[in-house]
Amino acid sequence: MNTDQLAFNCPPSHASPKDLGEFFVPSMRGPTKSAFKSIMVNPILTMINMAGGMPNPNTFPILQLQARVKTPGATSSQPEDTLTIEKKRRNKTTECLDELLQYSGGCGLESYCSFLYNHTQRTHSPQYADWGVIASCGNTDAIDKALSLFCQPGDSVLVERWSFPGTLSKLAIARLKPVPVALDEEGMVPADLDRVCSEWGGATPLRVLYVIPTGQNPTGTTMSLARRKSIYAVAQKHNLVIIEDDPYYFLQLPKFTSNQGYDTVTDRTCGQQQALVSSLLSLDTDGRVIRLDSFSKILAPNLRCGWVTAPQYILDKIQILSETTTLQPSGLSQGLVSKLLNDTWGMDGWDAHICELRAIYTARRNHFVRMAEKHLSGLVEYTVPLAGMFMWMRVNFGAASADPTAMTRLLYKMNECGIMMAPGMSFNSTATLPSDHYLRAAFALVDIDMFEPALLRLAHAISTISGQSASVNDEAATNDASCSSSKYEIRAYVANNTDKVQLIAPVGFNVAVANGRG
Ligand code: PLP
Repeated sequence: MNTDQLAFNCPPSHASPKDLGEFFVPSMRGPTKSAFKSIMVNPILTMINMAGGMPNPNTFPILQLQARVKTPGATSSQPEDTLTIEKKRRNKTTECLDELLQYSGGCGLESYCSFLYNHTQRTHSPQYADWGVIASCGNTDAIDKALSLFCQPGDSVLVERWSFPGTLSKLAIARLKPVPVALDEEGMVPADLDRVCSEWGGATPLRVLYVIPTGQNPTGTTMSLARRKSIYAVAQKHNLVIIEDDPYYFLQLPKFTSNQGYDTVTDRTCGQQQALVSSLLSLDTDGRVIRLDSFSKILAPNLRCGWVTAPQYILDKIQILSETTTLQPSGLSQGLVSKLLNDTWGMDGWDAHICELRAIYTARRNHFVRMAEKHLSGLVEYTVPLAGMFMWMRVNFGAASADPTAMTRLLYKMNECGIMMAPGMSFNSTATLPSDHYLRAAFALVDIDMFEPALLRLAHAISTISGQSASVNDEAATNDASCSSSKYEIRAYVANNTDKVQLIAPVGFNVAVANGRG
């Protein structure tokens, strides 16, 4: 397969994207291919290829790959399926093992990309011609490449006021300056974006807006359609490239109602009842959105598989960056994903899987919110998330509000009580320490039965530090047997998990999240 020939072209009726090539860093302008590759665009079928440095596939020791996979939405008669990838023989559309294990350029496997191209067409219907998709090793990788294409040391990047620590770390390492834009309960505020751009007097122009529109990390906010349109309009006005980092897009959740939730995962209607809000990509008439999707939250994070959607000339540059770094995600990972999506589940299976995920996370979100209503009233303020995995809580320190040590003391107290949440400071995009105090709780992982003890412990810790009367909360927390024995649990945890201790020591939070656990 010649990966250079992968071209998933859009119908010609669409207008060409704007040329944003002048925004590329100087080293990425000009020709994208080596002179040799440019000659080899259409090799004849009988070409004897002695050019590449590829090993002989007969030496590859992996002879077959087999995986048992869930059948989404299955009745008990067929709860799982087996997928098999043979060494030599292609199975339906997916490449054989010898192809998966061989070098194959920076685009990604053909079958993987073509599923994602069709899926993107169906989900987002991009509005301009010559768009495409390229494989990424997840969004962390794609963020790195998108930023490398447009930014050089000293440049500034617009970000949400609270943002994903992986990106903030990348900006710091690449010596790029985050420029914070205000957030409200619907995510980035368009008027503030406009103000920041209009008043900008930095040394280099603002070119790039990095934004997490759905289930924002850490605030859990999701932009409405109207909000997305406004953000896009401001980006057009100031001629910004938008990096749309959207790993929680498919985890959109229905509105929370306290007495009527989708509380069992057997209720599979939840996902279908609520349409997904349109992405920025789907609003993009100019070709200024670089959309980053990931399988991390919808299949599994360590597959390290994702995809980027953008105008093809931008993807050509990202391909160059891939060819000097990751090449593409592991062929085995891509092969598994491709076989699962193309040959085993198909689009219907994907839909059923997403629907199940949304039902599971809706049930978790609802239970978490109910427990927060029950135990944290008066102690924290929050907006119920409409997507993703996070609830962002502003701590009410009461009489201790003006105490600059209150947050640190709370973190130590939480530690002592055996409850860990990410402190707001880990997500801070401003140069100064925030005066507001936030915690990010992730409701995706912990056993759902632990939500109540977790929030009791938190209530106890906040009450202690803020000096607020904890009445029922305090009593309940004291009755929580694991809370009172938590000091011993923590000691045991620390002894057995020395590598993770940074996670519970407040000064080490940034290190932990920078290590990929953000
Ligand atoms: N972007 C955001 C907003 C995230 O929350 C995360 C993970 O937590 C990532 C990117 C990383 O995603 P990936 O696993 O695809 O690299």
